[in-house]
Amino acid sequence: MMRKAFISPTKYVQGEDELLNLGYFVKTFGDSALLIAHPDDVNRVKDKLKSTIDKFNITLVESNFQGECSREEVKRLQELAKEKACSCTIGLGGGKAIDTAKCVAEGEALIIVPTIAATDAPTSHSAVLYTPEGEFDDYAYFKQSPSVVMIDTTVIANAPTRFLVAGMGDALSTYFEARATARSYSNVNAGLPCGVREGVCGEAKGTNTALALAKFCYETLLKDGLQAKVACDSNMVTPALENIIEANILLSGLGFESGGLAAAHAIHNGLTSLEGTHHYYHGEKVAFTTIAQLVLENADKEELDEVLAFSSAVGLPICLPDLGVDSVTYEELLTVAKKACIPEESIHSMPFPITEEAVAAAIMVADQLGRKYKASKEA
Ligand SMILES: [Zn+2]
Repeated sequence: MMRKAFISPTKYVQGEDELLNLGYFVKTFGDSALLIAHPDDVNRVKDKLKSTIDKFNITLVESNFQGECSREEVKRLQELAKEKACSCTIGLGGGKAIDTAKCVAEGEALIIVPTIAATDAPTSHSAVLYTPEGEFDDYAYFKQSPSVVMIDTTVIANAPTRFLVAGMGDALSTYFEARATARSYSNVNAGLPCGVREGVCGEAKGTNTALALAKFCYETLLKDGLQAKVACDSNMVTPALENIIEANILLSGLGFESGGLAAAHAIHNGLTSLEGTHHYYHGEKVAFTTIAQLVLENADKEELDEVLAFSSAVGLPICLPDLGVDSVTYEELLTVAKKACIPEESIHSMPFPITEEAVAAAIMVADQLGRKYKASKEA
């Protein structure tokens, strides 16, 4: 018998000009909300915010968010929320504002409003803390996922296409990591309790539900990815763009948290030790490390070709030069592999024993396959 877990936000809502309904959701908690957002992001949507404030007669308390999700900033914002008696927290913008809002809300009333679809983090019950200097501090898990995740598709269509494509890269790994996690009967994040509680079991396997969502995520990318990219280039909301926004945020979010992470994200974390990759987004790196995972697990050639063709078509990186790394030594790849293989990494959710040498080899071969694919297209 197996213990399984699945976690999700209470409500997910997505539509054109959906931000106009923000006040309605605030009103379900009370009259005012602490707004955690970068001033640039507030500016992008200020007319819609003003309109929903007036329509629903709510107060949004602006917080002068400093841009980093640090313990200090979280404490300052929590004190502000208390002082202003805010009924709920809103995290609006990209990853940092969203993570900060999760930390401030601590699993209580929380509305997440992503203004880009670049990662699958919005729906999750976890956040990443950094030091005020921007270095990794710790992971935080909360008792619940956000109360509401609301997506204004018009806002996403008007954001740079590179964010949407990066989101497709993050979503690309979801099925393969969930499949590996299922094959190895490894634990998923959905089972983790908030904090360390005596006597509370944090071990749970993925559900069939999560694996099915992850698979549908991949199928949606193949079907609608290219058309969604073109729609975003033209700042137009089309059914394909809507499907990809849902895949990037909802399907991938539920898929990774309840289906599990494996080699692709661990190799991503290792890859950040290569200086050249620092100018690339999370999802762009994950697209390449997905190919590395497929090499590592010796996936079917058809599957590998399908992923290469998809990434190439939408403009995701398929080799190391695409990520700012023109040449790399075997020693450097071993350093990447070492970081990817530390005991707490998700790479150990692969259904076979992992060695640093095997990981370095997989990255090197993935790079060569990507280069060959490009050369064949150019010929
Ligand atoms: Zn990711």
